[in-house]
Parts: sequence; C-alpha cells; structure tokens
Amino acid sequence: MLLTISTTDARAPATDLGYLLHKHPERVQSFPQSFGTATVVYPEASAERCTVALLLEVDAVRLARTRGRDSPDFSLAQYVNDRPYAASSLLAVALADVFSTARAGICKSRQDLADGPLPLTITIPVLPCRGGPDVARRFFEPLGWTVAATSVQLDPAFPEWGASRYVSLVLTGEVRLADALNQLHVLLPVLDESKHYWQGPDEVDKLLRSGGEWLAAHPDCELVVRRYLGRRTTLARVALARLAELDDVAEADVDADPDDEHAVPEPARVPLNTLRHEAVLAALAEVGAETVIDLGCGPGQLLRKLVADHRFVRLAGVDVSVRSLQQAARAVRLEKMSERQAERTSLFQGALTYEDPRFAGYDAAVLMEVVEHVDPPRLAALERVVFGVAAPATVLVTTPNVEYNDLYEGLTGHRHHDHRFEWTRAEFRAWCDAVASEHGYSVEVRGIGDVDPERGTPSQLGVFRRG
Ligand code: SAH
Repeated sequence: MLLTISTTDARAPATDLGYLLHKHPERVQSFPQSFGTATVVYPEASAERCTVALLLEVDAVRLARTRGRDSPDFSLAQYVNDRPYAASSLLAVALADVFSTARAGICKSRQDLADGPLPLTITIPVLPCRGGPDVARRFFEPLGWTVAATSVQLDPAFPEWGASRYVSLVLTGEVRLADALNQLHVLLPVLDESKHYWQGPDEVDKLLRSGGEWLAAHPDCELVVRRYLGRRTTLARVALARLAELDDVAEADVDADPDDEHAVPEPARVPLNTLRHEAVLAALAEVGAETVIDLGCGPGQLLRKLVADHRFVRLAGVDVSVRSLQQAARAVRLEKMSERQAERTSLFQGALTYEDPRFAGYDAAVLMEVVEHVDPPRLAALERVVFGVAAPATVLVTTPNVEYNDLYEGLTGHRHHDHRFEWTRAEFRAWCDAVASEHGYSVEVRGIGDVDPERGTPSQLGVFRRG
C-alpha cells in the first residue's frame, strides 16, 4: 500500500516538508503497527520539490489474529484478501499514527508553514473506492482539491472484464498539511467503506478530532459520518449532533446515497447551530440593534449572517484565537469587500476577561457559546468587562443546557472538549439573574431548539436589556 505527498513550495525549501511531518528526508524510518509495518521514505528531496512516501506492508496473518474477539471470522477471506495491496482503513490508521504531530498542526520550527495552505500533490495508486471515481471526486472536491481519479482495470490483459473497484487517485491543491492528513484519515475508510478494526465509543471523538471544521462544512458531512462509523446509527447520531455544534450540517438527505440500503429515512431537521443563529438574529431585530459586536466570534458563522443583513450599520468580531479570526475573515469575505463594506466590519483580537475600550460603543453584544469556555474563576472578570464596562444596551448570551445531554445517545462528558462547564436551566437562570441585578440589566431567558418535556431545550438564550 502506498501513498505519496509532494510539495513544491515557492516560499520555503520544499524539504521543509520534513519539518512539518517531523520525519527527516534523509532517513528511512519504520513504524511497527499491530497489523504490519509502516515505512516513511522520501523518494525525492530537493529545494524545489519534495515527496514523502508512506508504505504499508500488511501481515495478513497478524491482521487475522488481532481481530476483535467478539467477531470471530474463520473464513479464508480473513487470510486471502486485498488488504496487503490496497490503500484502506489500515493505511488511514498508519497515517494517523505515523504523522500524529503533523495532524495536530504543530511544528514549532516552521509554525507559519504548518498554519497556512501549501501546494500539495497526493497520490494513491490503488484505492478501494465504492462507487468509483465520481465518489472520490464528490468527497474531495468540496475540500478544495483538484481530483484526478481513474478506474483501475480489473486486468489490463482483458479490457473486456471492465473496471475493478479500485481507483488511482491524484489530489492537487493548496491545503494546510494538517487538514490534508486529517481529510485522508477520515475519507480513506469512507471511500473503502469497510473498516478493519474494532470501533469503540471513542470512535466519535476520533472522527471529530480529525474532522472538526472541514467536515462540519462538507456538503456530504452526513454521508461521510454514516460511512465512517460503519452505519452504526447511534454513533452517527452522536457525531452529527456534535458536528452541528460546529457548523450547519447539511440536512439529513439519506436519499442522496441510492446504494445505502441500510439508511433509515429521518425527518429533515434544522441543525441546532442554525436555530441558535435564528434566535440571536430575532432578538437583535426585536431590540432594533444597528451596531453589534460578536464577542468570541470563533470562525465567524454568525458574523457572516450579520454582514449579509443590511439593517446592521456597524459590526465587529472579537476572539482570543488568531486562527479563528483568520477563518472569520474568510467567512465574511473581508478581502473581497468594497472599502465601504470593509469599514462597516472590523475583526480584532482581544480577551474578554480584560477591559478593552474597543468593546464599547455597540447597541448589542453577542456572547454565543462563549461563557462555557471561560474558567469559572475568570467568569466574574468577563461579566465586569462586558456588562460593567462595555455595557451595551443589549447583551445576548447563549450556552448549552446540560440537562439535554442525556438525549444525545452515547455522549459522555461535555459537548465540546474545551467546555469548562455546562449549566442546567436553573444554573443558567441563576447566573443571568445575578449578573442582571449586579449590573443594572433586566433579563429574559429563552430556550433554543426542540423542547423535551423533562429536559427542556438543547440550548438556552439570555436576553439582557440595560435599565
Ligand atoms: N461564537 C462562536 C464561537 C463559539 S466557540 C459560535 O457560536 O460559533 C467559543 C469561542 O470563544 C472560541 O472561538 C474561543 O476562542 C473564544 N473565547 C474563549 N474564551 C475567550 C476569551 N477569554 N476571550 C476571547 N475569546 C474567547
């Protein structure tokens, strides 16, 4: 099994790929896997062009022996199959293991290169791909890749036998290396559609770690999740609920996969993220806000909607994370804006726990899914900065309702790994009342999303009005 990644970066020597991957171009390194051996080697390494190859040799006998004990399989197919030759979920596992630091986007000596898009070419000569080249294009093109996918003939000596279920894949594009590796990690098994290792409950976490934002924004997000999780509908539901927290997940469209015989039609549902945006936009309309500051704007999904609405004459987005601000700039298309438009919208870095004069002077401030990211001992500082010092006429705060978590099957712990806490309805209500009375606001608490008679709604909104 073979996968190569090449770069021809004009800004830096191409051999910097070695730093990004944490693998020296002059060395041949082997990494034992439970099912075989992964080898990393650079067939070419010049300043102009550098290629790394990941070779995976699968030991079919070892693979058969390491199978989960609860799924005994005594068939010959265990030993005689295409695993040793075809890229598959095993290659994805090896890639995730061998390039784990690069997948996290960490490269101390070349962090700027790791953070930005690189000109990359990825080749996988033999990739099992159910549905053929069209399916490979469908999954990779929305991620910014130019896809060259051709069917591999069953036997070149007998063209009349037609195409095999393998494609030869070449991806070219300007993509951040960590994203490219994570996309391969998720999409190789999705294309192959047969996972070869045991799936535990942490599979959802693994998927979200690799998938994150690019997956949440993928038009086939739902299909990818279902295929990745091997149609385990419970896990898929958990993963989709959590991805909905990240982005507008495409509405359930199971008919889009005609060969998915196990798919159970589900009623179309509006993602929670969309409902949250709607609730905030409605509250802003109610109070007649014309200038709005989005505090902790993240990748700018709400800002994008605010920018598109001409009722708003001045807008700002603040975040402590520079990477989020870069994403927000892309989301609102800051570079493509006319000068006048660009003056209407500002994005800046700031910490909400420190007084900052730039936070003041807006009709309304939005704190959407932000307070639960702040350490409880720092929360009082945020309250003072927002309600006490910036003190806009309206403050909108949304946060998850932890009581609703029971309804996300399989979800243990918080909805997001960075949440420092999640409140019950009573806890949120108590916080709202205390903050309002301390800083001279009145507050109304609303639910966002489907109402469960016992657990309430998945998310909650506090509408604070000054005076
Ligand atoms: N409001 C966005 C993002 C929510 S995620 C949305 O609903 O989609 C929380 C965001 O708050 C992250 O982008 C994080 O970087 C930011 N954040 C957390 N603590 C912060 C702080 N103290 N100051 C500024 N931003 C903060």
